[in-house]
Amino acid sequence: MTVDDIDVLVIGAGLAGLRCAGVLAAAGRDVTVWEAADDIGGRVRTDVIDGFRCDRGFQVLNPAYPELSRAVDLEELALQPFGAGVAVRRERGATVWVHPLRVPQKVPAMLARGGLGPRDLVALARWAGPALRPGALKSGGADTTLHAALDAAGVRGELRRVIDRFLAGVVLDDTGSGSNAFALLLARMFALGVPALPAGGMAALPRRLAAGLHDRISLHRTAVDIRRDGAGFRVGDGAGAVRAAEVVVAADPVTAAGLAGLPTPDMHGVVTDWWATDEPQSAPPMLWVDGRPERTGPVLNAAVISAAAPTYAPPGRHLIAASALLARDGAAPAEEITRRHAAAILSTDGAGWELLIRHRIPAALPAQPAPLSVRRRVRLDDGLWVCGDHRDTASIQGALVSGRRTAEALLKRAG
Ligand SMILES: Cc1cc2nc3c(=O)[nH]c(=O)nc-3n(C[C@H](O)[C@H](O)[C@H](O)COP(=O)(O)OP(=O)(O)OC[C@H]3O[C@@H](n4cnc5c(N)ncnc54)[C@H](O)[C@@H]3O)c2cc1C
Repeated sequence: MTVDDIDVLVIGAGLAGLRCAGVLAAAGRDVTVWEAADDIGGRVRTDVIDGFRCDRGFQVLNPAYPELSRAVDLEELALQPFGAGVAVRRERGATVWVHPLRVPQKVPAMLARGGLGPRDLVALARWAGPALRPGALKSGGADTTLHAALDAAGVRGELRRVIDRFLAGVVLDDTGSGSNAFALLLARMFALGVPALPAGGMAALPRRLAAGLHDRISLHRTAVDIRRDGAGFRVGDGAGAVRAAEVVVAADPVTAAGLAGLPTPDMHGVVTDWWATDEPQSAPPMLWVDGRPERTGPVLNAAVISAAAPTYAPPGRHLIAASALLARDGAAPAEEITRRHAAAILSTDGAGWELLIRHRIPAALPAQPAPLSVRRRVRLDDGLWVCGDHRDTASIQGALVSGRRTAEALLKRAG
């Protein structure tokens, strides 16, 4: 077994590991990145199937994430925004809850359509008000569960159903038992920015982060153990080992916990189905949720992806995605069921949709319990560091912040 001596080893080329490695490399450190998979990106990857871009689990990029524009040039991602707001399936027809800051002129018409009355707006303001002070939210002090906070604010009826279901599709948990402060931070981002998809698929984000790092990244290298070796660490991958002065564990939350001796976080799972069709789709380019009191299926959100992001489908063809939660035991609803429900939400007939791929992701997001705890410890030992969304918030923003903050802490300690 050969042992190479290196300066910094980053384990994992997801967003956090890439961001960390990028900051370290820019500061002149000699960084090596090991990635267990066959490509970079971690939970942010895109499969190209028959010319359709199917992200590994539907996700969106919010340009308002403060860390995003620090990490990459947003222009280069050529973002394709969804419509501002959310489209809601009702028992009769549908309505669009417009984004009050983006399209204020459409707010009176929205209110006139019913569903939202003055009492709802007061309750909404009561719940969302603390989002004006993100610093206080991050301190986690007065945090409670999302469910309790919505109850306390008096959010009920269709408004409650839409908020519950929309946020369940974002935090991948429909119990309402996660942190209300985290939900409000997300709501703040949805208020400040319109979610979008990069022209090249979500995988374009890790590609941009990795620009300039390519000769430092080794794919198919899985760290299996980390042992103290003198002033540094010896990291083995089963076939070989390196001795590194500094090691950053940037693996997914469960693997990172095993490698770094941290408690294993609870993870939420999701399934996304991607369908192709040649039938023109009339649904507006929005994220859709089912606002009916009795949902007819498990889909949390559905969208005609190509209506918002034309680069996601070949010309003349259309791409539809729908996501549903996995059960605690990892079971996924059958595809016929998600298809029927997604078609009902989009008010169309899904019989002719062709399934391109089903992404079943049991460990999609770490749970974010109340009270919210952001900026968790990233230094584990002299020379041993950890980063990832599980150290900050369960989001792209959280992963990017965590990568930078770990790199900066390492650089500071090295003087
Ligand atoms: C379906 C889905 C939808 C999402 N939607 C959104 C959204 O809309 N908005 C949002 O902000 N966030 C969303 N997220 C969350 C966001 O994608 C993640 O928070 C973020 O990508 C996490 O990045 P990370 O670097 O912390 O971890 P990961 O992406 O998990 O990266 C860890 C990397 O380490 C590698 N690795 C693991 N073990 C080893 C080992 N032993 N040796 C070497 N390498 C190893 C892995 O292969 C992986 O590449 C979503 C996530 C999923 C899965």
